[in-house]
Amino acid sequence: MASNGKPKLALYWASSCGGCEIAVLALHEKILEVADAFDIVFWPCAMDFKEEDIKAMDDGSIDVCLFNGAIRNDDNEHMAHLLRQKSKVMVAFGSCAMEGCMPGLANFTDREQMMNFIYHDSPTTDNPESIEPQVITEVAEGELRLPAFWNTVRTLDQVVPVEYYLPGCPPEAKWIEVAVGAILSGELPPPGSVIGADVTVCDECPRTKSEKKITRFYRPQEIIPDPDICLLEQGIFCAGIATRGGCGALCPQVNMGCRGCYGPNEGVIDGGARLIGAIGSVIEGRTAEDIDAVLDTLPDPAGYFYRFSLPHSLLRRVHLVNDNGRNVAQPIKEVPRLDPSLNE
Ligand code: SF4
Ligand code: SF4
Ligand code: SF4
Repeated sequence: MASNGKPKLALYWASSCGGCEIAVLALHEKILEVADAFDIVFWPCAMDFKEEDIKAMDDGSIDVCLFNGAIRNDDNEHMAHLLRQKSKVMVAFGSCAMEGCMPGLANFTDREQMMNFIYHDSPTTDNPESIEPQVITEVAEGELRLPAFWNTVRTLDQVVPVEYYLPGCPPEAKWIEVAVGAILSGELPPPGSVIGADVTVCDECPRTKSEKKITRFYRPQEIIPDPDICLLEQGIFCAGIATRGGCGALCPQVNMGCRGCYGPNEGVIDGGARLIGAIGSVIEGRTAEDIDAVLDTLPDPAGYFYRFSLPHSLLRRVHLVNDNGRNVAQPIKEVPRLDPSLNE
């Protein structure tokens, strides 16, 4: 606790789009209650704090750190370790910190391929001197440093121990309120818990299901869906069947299939694998050829199934680059958490 008796709160963004920071502001006037209830000691997005301020604090002196964003570079990792050291409770806030989310889609490729495309091969690149960003650049005024870009995107709990997870891309304000309320009252669930609903998006969805099978998938622009019938049974990809509820089925209620941003439902280790099984159950067809024909109408199946969860899945990534810069196959197995060898 701070000398004023208020618990100390830190908020930080690592590899993040900024949406999770906006989600905190979406508390609207309740943000004033947060500011009143906590002593906010670090929130670089909103207030002028420096890393040195955190370094000067005693270990464990921050009561709660809400950490959003994935771990994509050495600066993200450094801040995760520093804030872990200074915080009693670490919360993986939002899908990027919890599962890897959009930054984690980069695990379908690798650093070398990304650098080649962005700085050399893309149709709009104009880079006659083949310059690539360097970690250290000497200039007349001294040394400039950029964060080192890791090959593999990781989740927060693959870098430091995490007490709680707040799902969503971004988390809905009502769940942030639940988390803040639990912290203030001291009535926190057991460490390791996801602060969220114990149902699927399907359970919250008002659309009617009839166990109808589908013979193809449609993209949103190819069909005007019936407003009352399950989107999946109309051939529109919907991950609600294997996604943790809590958002109130926001997307299906506006004719968009759930994309799975709240992550897998309770007890599921690999959300993508669970989703493959669930989607498979609605496909018409008895033979592998029949099923392949239906899946051929789904563009980018890996992106659909692992849109939010690739770094936290059992797959983790598609392949790794070894020290010689060559791609090496990554076996499909669980890689131990907190494995520092995935840095490079
Ligand atoms: S979870 Fe979503 S909203 Fe939050 S930082 Fe990641 S991409 Fe942005
Ligand atoms: S699959 Fe999607 S549209 Fe169908 S009931 Fe579940 S959430 Fe609703
Ligand atoms: S419906 Fe699915 S994608 Fe949309 S907000 Fe809810 S969990 Fe996220």
